Amino acid sequence: MEVLRVKVVFMYIIALVLSFITPSINAHLLPPAPSPTSDGEDINAFSLFLNACISTKSIHHAQKLCFHLHKTQKDSILENPILKSKLITLYSVCGQVDEARRVFEAIGKRPESVYVAMAIGYSRNGFCKEALLLYCDMLSQCIEPENFAFSMALKACTDLSTALVGRAIHAQIMKHRGQADQVVNNALLNFYVECGCFAEVLKVFEVMPQRNVVSWNTLIAGYAALGRVFETLDAFRIMQREEGIGFSWVTLTTVLPICAQVTTLLSGKEIHGQIVKSRKKADVPLLNSLIDMYAKCGAISYCKKVFDRMHSKDLTTWNTMLAGYSVNGRIEEAIALFDEMIRFGIRPDGISFVALLSGCSHSGLTGEGKRLFDAMQDYGVQPSLEHYACLVDLLGRSGKLDEAFATAENIPMKASGSIWGSLLNSCRLHCNVSLAETVAERLFDVEPNNPGNYLMLSNIYANARMWDGVNRVREMMAMKGIKKDSGCSWIQMKHKIHTFIAGGSSDFRCSAEYSKVWTELSNAIEAEGYIPDTSVVLHDISEEMKAMWVCGHSERIAAVFALIHTSPGMPIRITNNLRVCVDCHSWMKAVSRVTRRPIVLRDTNRFHHFEHGTCSCKDYW
Ligand SMILES: [Zn+2]
Ligand SMILES: [Zn+2]
Repeated sequence: MEVLRVKVVFMYIIALVLSFITPSINAHLLPPAPSPTSDGEDINAFSLFLNACISTKSIHHAQKLCFHLHKTQKDSILENPILKSKLITLYSVCGQVDEARRVFEAIGKRPESVYVAMAIGYSRNGFCKEALLLYCDMLSQCIEPENFAFSMALKACTDLSTALVGRAIHAQIMKHRGQADQVVNNALLNFYVECGCFAEVLKVFEVMPQRNVVSWNTLIAGYAALGRVFETLDAFRIMQREEGIGFSWVTLTTVLPICAQVTTLLSGKEIHGQIVKSRKKADVPLLNSLIDMYAKCGAISYCKKVFDRMHSKDLTTWNTMLAGYSVNGRIEEAIALFDEMIRFGIRPDGISFVALLSGCSHSGLTGEGKRLFDAMQDYGVQPSLEHYACLVDLLGRSGKLDEAFATAENIPMKASGSIWGSLLNSCRLHCNVSLAETVAERLFDVEPNNPGNYLMLSNIYANARMWDGVNRVREMMAMKGIKKDSGCSWIQMKHKIHTFIAGGSSDFRCSAEYSKVWTELSNAIEAEGYIPDTSVVLHDISEEMKAMWVCGHSERIAAVFALIHTSPGMPIRITNNLRVCVDCHSWMKAVSRVTRRPIVLRDTNRFHHFEHGTCSCKDYW
């Protein structure tokens, strides 16, 4: 009675949900089934033959078999449900769902395996609703679902993002089985990850009696999708070191972008080592993400090594290398690579030009950038919003503010926040307050809630010593309830990632070792001529207080920490969540000179490679 009630409730839920998402299919219009027979012939041999047909997608050979059986009057053997399931699978892998359904309909009493084969066939061809309906149909026939049926139904729920039905199936599994097997558990994990129910992912993962590489990959992908970078890297480490599961290319392709995101070069290099040691040949997408990781960690020489050793390259490989050069301020190399690409007969696309144009604008190569923009049409690439954004940035940075503004006003599509934002930054670089006010108006229209935009305008006023302007912006922010993002920097040391928050990290900042290094450093850089520039600080407070305030910027705390905890001469790599401020930029330059340490700082926009007192961005960011 209880079982029946659960079934009725489940059917009600599924029907209710499905009634919203699916029209019913006309399966019942298909011809009636002939009566099934079985003559006990060697089913195995035919089954193997059909397997071969499935893997080669050969309907032709299967039809020959049917014809042969018919000729020798043995076609009754095809009534066997195992062979019928195989036929259904064969038709569905060949994209002939209607034929598969015809075979399905022709079976009188259908076992679970036939339902599953048909439902998988639907799923494979993108008819996920039909697959779920078939699952309901099976339940209504009082056929007990087995593991394959559960996995199939969960996969269909995943593809349809129907969390309600998926949860109902999970409840059904627990009710009937108490415990799911590994395949079903993996399907559950994947379902919850895709539906964004991460708490459930962890619950299922916790109680799984056995976890394989697929289970771990799903967990890691779940963390990565949520941007929980540290947990992603932790899970990857535990998977390998503690559980000894190893990895697949999927694991590495998921983890590498995370290393790139937080600039954990050390973890990235380890993954590179694992790829090299592996007996399996790495595929192109994996090597592409390796190049991307090195580029985003500012280790451009490694990018080139991986790139040069790749036997086959696709367009993404070239684009990743181009973008790597460009974001690291190596525009000459990027342009040379582009020429090489053309010589090799590789046709560039929109992404190639975004890489080149943004590189040109960051390096001040205005003429070259304009030439490339015009050359896009020669390669059949239509300029998109992103290309126009690069063009506006290119003109603005080089001081052609009016031309940049005119371009932004006249582009064929609606100008985005990034276009007005870059133009506002150009107004900051060239101290043009009146244009900045016009541009800010447009920008606040498109992006009313981005605190960075208000801060930029405020900085422009502050640079011009227009304090009432600064106050107006502050009032505007207060009125709209916009808060400044707190600055945050991180560095990787051994396997630990250390995070520093602006004005925070008080334990470390109060420590004796910090004040000792900080004082020595301050004396050394001031002796070299560094003077704090406090115009970036928005507070109407004394100069001394302002200087204290900028000292608390997270990238500086991170740099001091790295100076204390790494050996002399070692490069320091810092990632920052905001655009580096003018004063921190001069501070980093001075520190790189007095400590003789290269410092690689990645901010929201680009890389700054500080060495011997200068920066790769040539103070142009
Ligand atoms: Zn700063
Ligand atoms: Zn710089």
